[in-house]
Amino acid sequence: MSAAPRAGGGVARLQIDLEAVAANTRLFADRTGGELMAVVKADGFGHGATAIARTALAHGASRLGVASLAEAFALRAGGVDAPLLSWLNPGDADWGAAQAARVDVAVPSPEHLCAVTRAAPGSRVHLHLDVDMARDGVRAEDWPDVCCCAARAEREGQIRVVGVMGHLGCAGESTHTQAGAAANDVARERFAWALRVAHDAGLRPVDRHLAATAATLTDRRTHHTMSRIGAGLVGIDPSKTTELRPALTLTAPVVTIRSVRVGTAVGYGHTWVAERPTRLALLPLGYADGLPRVASGRAEVLLAGRRCPIVGLISMDMTVVDIGDLAVFPGDLAMVFGPGDAGEPTVRDWAHWADTIEHEIVTRLGPRLNRTVTPPLSRLI
Ligand SMILES: *Cc1c(COP(=O)(O)O)cnc(C)c1O
Repeated sequence: MSAAPRAGGGVARLQIDLEAVAANTRLFADRTGGELMAVVKADGFGHGATAIARTALAHGASRLGVASLAEAFALRAGGVDAPLLSWLNPGDADWGAAQAARVDVAVPSPEHLCAVTRAAPGSRVHLHLDVDMARDGVRAEDWPDVCCCAARAEREGQIRVVGVMGHLGCAGESTHTQAGAAANDVARERFAWALRVAHDAGLRPVDRHLAATAATLTDRRTHHTMSRIGAGLVGIDPSKTTELRPALTLTAPVVTIRSVRVGTAVGYGHTWVAERPTRLALLPLGYADGLPRVASGRAEVLLAGRRCPIVGLISMDMTVVDIGDLAVFPGDLAMVFGPGDAGEPTVRDWAHWADTIEHEIVTRLGPRLNRTVTPPLSRLI
């Protein structure tokens, strides 16, 4: 999906700041001597895959990465032409269509290697080693065999092994905890071993990539020939070491205001009861738009320049805010989150209130939000 305005019934507005994405991309380009792959999976971390891709490509990224082939094909359909890697697909994916769309594919298991070789001779592949998460990627014990098979397939002209990749499990923790640092050391060494095994098998992958956002910012030893940056492009730094620019601002107009007496219960389940006479403002967005319901009772918004608490349970379409005697009027805009410049909550605040990470907040924003991109993409590319 692109970040262009979508037909949605809601009036809550999500602004995507591509200038911030451009600045973040330039920062990463400065931090690494290698190539930059912009990771735009999950609709560009909820910011609009095509707009983020085009902006990043114009400001220092030379490649794109996504999880699924469907995401890759959507970028191609949107006219995005850059080199593109897709790393998460079932063994019976349409490898022929990937090749036809000039999409590199990752090989995360021996079975995938056989399937790609058989279904789409000539494919460009990146062998993906599981460095430390027991999640995705070839297991270390299978790696030597996979390298041998891949080298044979390459000699026979069936595939081209253009890359070797890994993905770190504790890069965000490595600068903060000893356990994280130790895990990172082991994973880095395992990747170095994997490159040697691949080389000894006769493979000469030109792309050797391990680092994502956190490792790129904190550990040069992970850089190799390329960094894959997703969260960092949209202003999220899992290592919490670097000032990046958040790219989203979510606002909603006050629909109505009511005065309530002491003892008035608010919302489903009556989880909040007024302890003083006060005024309540209704906002037209809720958990269907991505506000985590679990943040009820903790979260705040900015109204009339002041932080005001959300009271009662966040419901599907609405949220109630205690505005006390602030000079707030129907139609005034509440800032739900933004970069924080005006004192509004940030995505990081919402992640804290919902006991999660920023990534989850930005990737769960709903289709009903009225999305606008500033400045226009044409000014940045
Ligand atoms: C999501 C992802 C990335 C990007 O990670 P960030 O920390 O968001 O930069 C890189 N590589 C792989 C394999 C991923 O799944």
